[in-house]
Amino acid sequence: MNIRNYTFDEFVERVKAFHGYEAPGVIIGGFMVDLAYRFLPEGWLLDALSETPKCLPDAIQLLTPCTVGNGWLTVVNVGRYALALYNKENGDGVRVFVDTDKLDPWTELKTWFFKLKPKKEQDTALLLSQIKEAGSGICGVQKVQVATQVIQRRRRGSLGVCPKCHEGYPLDDGPLCLACTGKELLYF
Ligand SMILES: [Zn+2]
Repeated sequence: MNIRNYTFDEFVERVKAFHGYEAPGVIIGGFMVDLAYRFLPEGWLLDALSETPKCLPDAIQLLTPCTVGNGWLTVVNVGRYALALYNKENGDGVRVFVDTDKLDPWTELKTWFFKLKPKKEQDTALLLSQIKEAGSGICGVQKVQVATQVIQRRRRGSLGVCPKCHEGYPLDDGPLCLACTGKELLYF
């Protein structure tokens, strides 16, 4: 079972090189991206949405043109293991999620997904073989219309200079930048 243009083993090697180790979440994410593409027409200019910051964004960045840095991948942390690939013009897209009803046959995979035992007790070889065998069979697919605020999230209008820190910031955020208002606490 291939993952886009990679064999399973080739993709595991790519994951090791990019992510630092053969993270189960990135490998599952590869099957999820592959599945999403099967439901999308050729030639669409795609944007991506990841519903978790963990692992899934790396699968998207390895297998699509969408990265956090180029702005075509939006990460919103609702903590669901799900992604959407969608037409950047109109928000039409496909959402792929892990269908918890389909995990039962895959004991080690289910244990990993729900964090039912400590990582050091995890049988990594069994887990990877179950991921390989299950493929996208543990996933569900939905047609979705991505919300306007997600599509517009990264377009933040014109920039000004924050009167407090004197750095550039989006004026739409208010009279001060979000770091200086304390709305986003970044440093102590
Ligand atoms: Zn500031």
